[in-house]
Formats: sequence, structure tokens, C-alpha cells
Amino acid sequence: MVKPLYYGKQTIEAADLEAVRDVLNSDFLTQGPMVSCFEHALEQQLQVPHVISCSNGTAALHLACMALEIEARDEVWVSAVSFVATANGARYCGANIRFIDIDWHTGNISLSALSTQLEQAAQRAQLPKALIVVHLGGESCDMRRIHELCQPYNIRIIEDSCHALGGSYQDEPIGNCRYSDCCVFSFHPVKSITTAEGGAVSCRNADVAERLRMLASHGISKDAAQWQSADASDAPWYYEQQELGYNYRLSDLQAALGAAQLPRLSRWIELRAQIAKRYQEAFAGLLSMQHHRSDSQSAYHLAIVLCDSNAERDELYQSLRKAQIFAQLHYIPIYRHPYYQQQNQVNYADFPGSERYYERALSLPIYPRLSPTDQQRVIDVVIDAVQTYRCQSPKSSQL
Ligand SMILES: *Cc1c(COP(=O)(O)O)cnc(C)c1O
Repeated sequence: MVKPLYYGKQTIEAADLEAVRDVLNSDFLTQGPMVSCFEHALEQQLQVPHVISCSNGTAALHLACMALEIEARDEVWVSAVSFVATANGARYCGANIRFIDIDWHTGNISLSALSTQLEQAAQRAQLPKALIVVHLGGESCDMRRIHELCQPYNIRIIEDSCHALGGSYQDEPIGNCRYSDCCVFSFHPVKSITTAEGGAVSCRNADVAERLRMLASHGISKDAAQWQSADASDAPWYYEQQELGYNYRLSDLQAALGAAQLPRLSRWIELRAQIAKRYQEAFAGLLSMQHHRSDSQSAYHLAIVLCDSNAERDELYQSLRKAQIFAQLHYIPIYRHPYYQQQNQVNYADFPGSERYYERALSLPIYPRLSPTDQQRVIDVVIDAVQTYRCQSPKSSQL
């Protein structure tokens, strides 16, 4: 039996088991001391004043949109190639989504598409309330430029950083919100660190942080300074619900796992970077990979190869699969999903970058514990599949 390999996988060590067992033996399984412990550790890691943990990355996106007061019929712009949750968070608030094309070499939002769309929207007087960008595969978007483009119109910016924990942009951690209102993280098992299910929002603004906290816990306030009711009691049991919030909290069990994992983050990113480098070297002259910025450090969540054609990519996928290597495509452009087609029918030809990426991209296995032997297995299959394919159809390699 050949061992199956997947594109991503969690790393669980003895310290993780111990941390979770300690919580199970304690008085609190949820809302105990580990949640704030994990949040403070993330604040340190991200160099940001506020981190609010929550039940998953999708909830984090929804919370960020709510806290930034995105409401029904507001327009929200979303980078076209991402996991559907990136757009869904704004849809939960009733926003209308407009997708922005990507640069197919990076998978990230195209700055020329963004600036063209902004100019046109300004002329129509139909500017978006918010923009959600994605650091695809952990590779930072050019946040300084994005901020420069959006600032004249006072557009709120959310960074979907679900791939990017542990990455940096111009020597600062992705997640510090220098150029955005909120950054959103997921701790799903395939991400940089895991809490099984889990997520977080970071921000610099204390009022936004307060709203995020309230909305993640039923809209309930326990802060006497914030009470609104005329007959608010100073009794210690008093609390009040001030708006319609959700139960989006992270449990202490999950937070303990996250806090135990976090100290190993930088080591894991280093291992991912080494794996990415080995792919890069092995495929030099044969296949290109996602382009990386020279002024930033990717979190290497994905190892994305970019084939010469759609047929070549499909062939590569099948060859890997036959060898029990389960590559993935990240992602089908969100506008192609039937739900979003119903929302606003788009013309695929308006998204040349996204379409080109969608035809050619494939994510190969990358995770801290991927052994050099297993990675070599992947490399051998890729090289063999691509060379065989190109010999059989010589035209394809000239694209
Ligand atoms: C994982 C992920 C999400 C959603 O996170 P969950 O924790 O699974 O809800 C959102 N956006 C991107 C880009 C992701 O990779």
C-alpha cells in the first residue's frame, strides 16, 4: 500500500495533547482562562493591540463585516479567487458582492483591475463600503498600494489572512492591520496552526474590538460603562443584550490547543519555506510556481504550480492521483459558483487573470511534517507527468 499524501496536514505533538488534557481536567471547558491566554499570545505574535478569537474563520469574516457596519445592499468588493467563505461573510450581512480580478502569477488581487474598477465606480458614484483581499497561499497582497488606492474613498479594508499566519509584509507580521481595518484568521487543521475549528479577528481600533467581542457572544455586554438600560443594575449578575449577536466563541479546549501550537509557528513556517524551495529548484525550467514578493515572507500555506495549459494541469492532477498524491485546486473563482451566478451573473471574460489561474493552477503537498522522501515522490511524479505530457502533445509547451 502506498501512503496517500494530501496537500495539507496538521502537526500534533506531545505538548498539544498535554495542553488539551489539562483543560479537560479543569473546571472550564469553554470561556475559561485559555481563551484570553491564546488571544494575548496572538496579539504578541501579530504585533497588534486587539485579537478576538471565534469559532472559525468564516465566523471571523462575518464578525469583521458586522463590526465594520456592512449592511444590507452595501457593496463589498472581493478578490475573485478564494474560498467561498471570503464572500459569504459579507453576504451574511446582506451586502452585494462585486468580484475583482486577480493577477494570475500571484493569485492575489490585481492592482490594475482594482484601480480601474475604483475609477469607474467613482464616476458612477457607486463606491464599495469595503474591500476584502486574500493573501493567497500565504503570499501577501501589496497592502500599502491597496490602502493608497482605497483611502481617498474611505473604503474599509479586510484582509482574509486565513492562509497567512506566520507570514510577513515589508518586515511586519501579516495581521498587524497597518493597512487595513481588520485581519481574519482560521485555525482549521490545514492552516499554519490549528485549534481543529477556530478563527480570530485582529484590529487596532478599540471600538471595533469591543463590537467584535460583543457580536461573538450574543450581543451581550458585561461592561458597566457601556450599559444602555435605564434600570441597569450594579448587581454583579447583571448583563444586557444590546444587539443581535451570535454564539461564535472559541472554547477553552480549542484555545489551549492553539496556545500550545503557537510557539512552534515560526519553525513550521521555516519548514514550509524549505519545502517550497525544494519544489522551486526541482521544477526550474519545467514549471513555474506562484510568484513571491521580494519584500515579503510568505507563510507558504500552499505550493502552487502553474502549468502551461489546462490540459496539462488536468493530466498532472490525474497522474498524481494515480500515485495516491491528492493535489487540490485553490480555488474555483467564486463568481463561477451557482449561488454567486444567481446573485450577479458575471461574464467570465471580464476576469482574464482569474480564468487563466483557474485553468493552470494546482496545489502540491506542503506541510511541516512532509518528509524529504515523500516530497521526492511528489517531485518525481510531477516531472514525469509533465515531460510525458509534453512529449505526447508538443504544441502545448509552446504556449
Ligand atoms: C480556511 C479559509 C476560510 C474559512 O475558515 P474556516 O475556519 O474553515 O471557516 C476563509 N478564507 C480562506 C481563504 C480560507 O483558506
